[in-house]
Amino acid sequence: MRKFDVPDQYKSNRIAQLKELRKQQDPRKKDFSPSRLDFGPLQVLIPRHFGFCYGVENAIEIAYKTLDKHPNESIYFLSEMIHNPVVNDDLKKRGIQFLQNTKGEELIPIDGLSKDSIVLIPAFGTSLEMKARLKGMGIALEEYDTTCPFVVKVWNKAEKISKDGFSVIVHGKPEHEETRATFSHSANASPTLVLRNMEEAEALAAFMKGELAEETFYQTFDGQMSKGFRLKKDLIKFGVVNQTTMLASETQGIALYLRSVLVDIYGEENIKQHFADTRDTLCYATNDNQSANIRMLEEEADLAIIVGGYNSSNTSHLLELAEEKLPSYFVSGAECIRADRSIQHFDLANKRERTTADFMQKSSPLKVMLTSGASCPDTVVEEVLMKLLSFFPAAEDYDTVVQSYKSSLL
Ligand code: SF4
Repeated sequence: MRKFDVPDQYKSNRIAQLKELRKQQDPRKKDFSPSRLDFGPLQVLIPRHFGFCYGVENAIEIAYKTLDKHPNESIYFLSEMIHNPVVNDDLKKRGIQFLQNTKGEELIPIDGLSKDSIVLIPAFGTSLEMKARLKGMGIALEEYDTTCPFVVKVWNKAEKISKDGFSVIVHGKPEHEETRATFSHSANASPTLVLRNMEEAEALAAFMKGELAEETFYQTFDGQMSKGFRLKKDLIKFGVVNQTTMLASETQGIALYLRSVLVDIYGEENIKQHFADTRDTLCYATNDNQSANIRMLEEEADLAIIVGGYNSSNTSHLLELAEEKLPSYFVSGAECIRADRSIQHFDLANKRERTTADFMQKSSPLKVMLTSGASCPDTVVEEVLMKLLSFFPAAEDYDTVVQSYKSSLL
């Protein structure tokens, strides 16, 4: 896979050393067991895959190169480049301005830009309407488009099945930039509907089977359908694509469930005419990170720490996986772990930060799972690890522990 030019400030020698070790031991990425670092009073489990993905590194490379190339010009990002505060804050400090917030509301009037304005498109991509608007103003986008190729792959898949006459169901968060972009591309080619989760898929099935009245269908999925979408006409044949950072198992579950609904209505022998095979739209990074975390969660530990931006979709799914098994804390950085042994963390269900006192239980050794999302720099993970270690003065030093872990792999 291509190597990107990522600024040193996001690289961690310690984490890179560990990742390299695993890569040498398992070049074909078959072993998803976590790395186990035994510091004595503290044991840390780190998943086989975590951190910056292809799309994030690609976006970072383009953004920083653009800054270097145009030091005296105004540079805009259509919205947050990725969902990580460390990276976004640094870009802002260097003068990049965000035109919209994550909901697509304008922070800076887009109509006030000129044809010479430099506008970067984030890794999530953007809608066809926004691209047309910017191009209509004479703004050149090609050089500054950081849309991840794995997102484009989803758009291409939606377009392909549209050409074969299938409608498109998008499994995603309707308000997320990537889902809005995918919806726009798909709706341009075919009737499209967004489903947030299995609950909505079940409601959709009830409408398809006539168990719920058609009138309430349009109310239930208001704002999640393409213009003119009709229950009776547009759900006869469809395929399911996803926002690339959703839980892979949930997308697969929704696709299989809706396929079974179509089988009930039209019969297994006719399913190919009613359900398009779209299995290959899952992103490799989401897959690998989720698989590695699921594998790590088979181990025993006292708690899990998940590092990343609170609005990061892929990171929040890692939290959801961990929360099912053990006390889990979603933190944005090392500063969330305080000297009084409390932790400030994001409560996903209530969408607010809260503090948990004395979060490090008294187990000896304390076993911690540590992971991060695809938009979180490794430096932040290292800082969290070092912060944890600072509470254990008797702990072995990092290099010694990694060397002994290396020996255990041989
Ligand atoms: S998570 Fe996947 S689709 Fe999203 S930016 Fe990373 S590589 Fe691209």
